[in-house]
Amino acid sequence: MSRLEGRTAVVTGSTSGIGLGIARALAAQGANVMLNGFGEPAAIEKLRAGLAAEHGVGVAYSSADMTKPAEIRAMVAQAVAELGGADILVNNAGIQHVAPIERFPDERWDAVLAVNLSAAFHATKAALPHMRARNWGRIVNIASAHGLVASVEKAAYVAAKHGIVGLTKVTALETARTGITANAIAPGWVLTDLVQKQIDALAAREKLDRPQAKDRLVGEKHPSREFVTVEQVAGVAVFLCSEAANEIRGATLSVDGGWTAQ
Ligand code: NAD
Repeated sequence: MSRLEGRTAVVTGSTSGIGLGIARALAAQGANVMLNGFGEPAAIEKLRAGLAAEHGVGVAYSSADMTKPAEIRAMVAQAVAELGGADILVNNAGIQHVAPIERFPDERWDAVLAVNLSAAFHATKAALPHMRARNWGRIVNIASAHGLVASVEKAAYVAAKHGIVGLTKVTALETARTGITANAIAPGWVLTDLVQKQIDALAAREKLDRPQAKDRLVGEKHPSREFVTVEQVAGVAVFLCSEAANEIRGATLSVDGGWTAQ
């Protein structure tokens, strides 16, 4: 697999979970990294400096809120100004809200669509001119098994994730004659903060202990009965950035323990 020295990656929502795992894996391949996401400033600065020192790459941080298009554009501009480009864009930031449609708050619908779908559009729009100028680019959209199939009480998330699978295909078609590719990764359950909250809610609702709730959640969906790891998703993202993936265009790669094979 070719390394990524001289490339710069913007990874949205990379202060924790899958995004952080992808940022680490890209830095380990020699790419400069623009971190983004919420968190405590001192902890983020420690993360930024640690990643830069460990891998000898440039690492910067943008506090851009993915619900705000102007801040998304500024994040991409900052990557170009401070790190020398925007060659790889990983649209990863995501939030969840769980409720039946009749009780789904309008404001949560808007927020989930903004972070999980519209942010990817605005970031792609801002980064593409820089990729076209070099005739090389990688757009990796973090979708979900919920981009391919549905579950109850996740109207906004499922709609946004199905949407990002479509956006990925359009981006791939519009760049098909170039060295830029766009693909999506569709993970099943990955044990991150986002999922821990759902395990805690299930445990409280069904009066289960944490290990039972964890088993119930993963067992309902994954034939493997195993969680996907952050490192496995990050490995697929690195593969999509490699030369071997030059002609993978508009694909959605499932990493889901067999969930959507059923
Ligand atoms: P996480 O909660 O650990 O991380 C989410 C990241 O997004 C954090 O860095 C957070 O600060 C950032 N973020 C949230 N709102 C933001 C905003 N408005 N602006 C900027 N940053 C914002 O979640 P995760 O599980 O690592 O999820 C990452 C992505 O993977 C999401 O798109 C999620 O839908 C997707 N995904 C997760 C799973 C899973 O099981 N964990 C499965 C499939 C897909």
